[in-house]
Amino acid sequence: MLPIQTIQDRILLWAWGSLVLTLLSFACSLLGDNFTAIAFAAFLAASLTLVGAIMDITALKKAHAELERSELRYRHLFSRMPIAFRQLDASKLVALFRKLRAEGVKDLGPYFDSHPEFLRTCMDALSFQEANERAIQMFGGGVQSYVGRSMAESWKERPDTFRRAMESRYRGETNFEEETKMVTWDGRVVDVLFTTARVGPINDLEISLVGTIDISQRVRAQQKLQQVQAEFAHDARVSMLGELTASIAHEINQPLAAIATNGAAGLRWLNRPTPDIVEIRKTIENIVVDTQRAANIVARVHRMASRKAPEQELLSFDEIIREALLFLRHELESRSVTILHRPDPAVPQVLGDRTQLQQVIVNLAINAVQAMSQAGHDDRRIVISTATQDAATLCCSVEDNGPGIADEHVGRLFESFFTTKESGMGMGLPICRSIIEAHGGRIGAEASTTNGGARFWFTMPISAMAVSPRSDPRPEA
Ligand code: ADP
Repeated sequence: MLPIQTIQDRILLWAWGSLVLTLLSFACSLLGDNFTAIAFAAFLAASLTLVGAIMDITALKKAHAELERSELRYRHLFSRMPIAFRQLDASKLVALFRKLRAEGVKDLGPYFDSHPEFLRTCMDALSFQEANERAIQMFGGGVQSYVGRSMAESWKERPDTFRRAMESRYRGETNFEEETKMVTWDGRVVDVLFTTARVGPINDLEISLVGTIDISQRVRAQQKLQQVQAEFAHDARVSMLGELTASIAHEINQPLAAIATNGAAGLRWLNRPTPDIVEIRKTIENIVVDTQRAANIVARVHRMASRKAPEQELLSFDEIIREALLFLRHELESRSVTILHRPDPAVPQVLGDRTQLQQVIVNLAINAVQAMSQAGHDDRRIVISTATQDAATLCCSVEDNGPGIADEHVGRLFESFFTTKESGMGMGLPICRSIIEAHGGRIGAEASTTNGGARFWFTMPISAMAVSPRSDPRPEA
């Protein structure tokens, strides 16, 4: 078969020939030959049609070539991109969604709640069509092993991500992205950034392209960092406990002294000619209460010193502050510092780790005490307040009337190892920040307050599970 180019050249040659003949015929017609004139007209029409057809073929050929080029570009991108791409056949899913819409389902979330089996139906309605080189490296299997396979296995670890992706698609959103875990064909679990971009009319789109980027290394590095931070926080707590030993000893001494006093009193009541049973019972009851107090203190110290993984529990923030202040009582008394604890009784509970949050309060308060002592102020006062910033956020602030913070230091306070103290470590504030951020909050500082000192504040999300706060405001401590 002749190549198209040659056919086209021949047609063009013929058209030119026709044009020359046409001109000759035209000359004849001018000389009065009617037949020649009609032939000329017919020939002219045929030639024009032919030239039009040639032009159409050329345009078609160009478009076809462009399509081939674009397809090649897509293939190239698809197979060579350093991101794992998998193409899915979404036709069954499109049909499922159409049916749901016809039934009047507006939001897929509540539908999943009442039909949990539908999630699996959606997974099975999406099957792999193709995978690029990177996807095969990442998920294993050969090119052919993908074709027609359901998505269900990939989502075994995190079906919740798939559910959110489906809800997003049903809402008609053009993008979905989430850090999650996916299961490979050989059963490994990989940390990935899962993305899907839906171009065009989503509801009718019968193919889906999903991209996955392996973020295992980053996740491992983050875990390592968190572990190092936790170790640092633990070491800082232990060294803080070392500094507070006097305070702790003092704390324990109080119930021990009370136990001794009550024991002696009980013995006296017992040694009377007629032992007073009522008084003896009272002293023994006091001994039991004081023993419990001592045991609580020991448990608190033990919690602070232990290397337990953080625990999430519903907490009253004011209780956390009160407990933290118990640790500091002796330190505050010996340095003549007055603490005003201003709780807002309306503040709901927060979800967090009791020991870590106590550590934040202790760190901020110790910094304030040290700043005021260094500056040699006589009037040393710390105000700790809690308030609801908005319906979802609690704000706690620790304010002192010390020297405040130099302007050039404000931006560096939370940097690791930044310290202006001779024997400082510069880790107290970075640890506070990592604890608060891990609880979903923010922390900051103001260089000087109306009292001239520094003000440190932090926020914490109020737990959605929070129970109503106490209605009896506690007096200032
Ligand atoms: P360190 O106490 O070991 O120096 P921190 O991270 O706790 O480490 O504090 C870093 C620095 O922040 C301190 O050295 C001090 O300069 C400054 N700072 C912290 N709290 C206060 C405060 N209440 N008033 C003035 N400066 C403060």
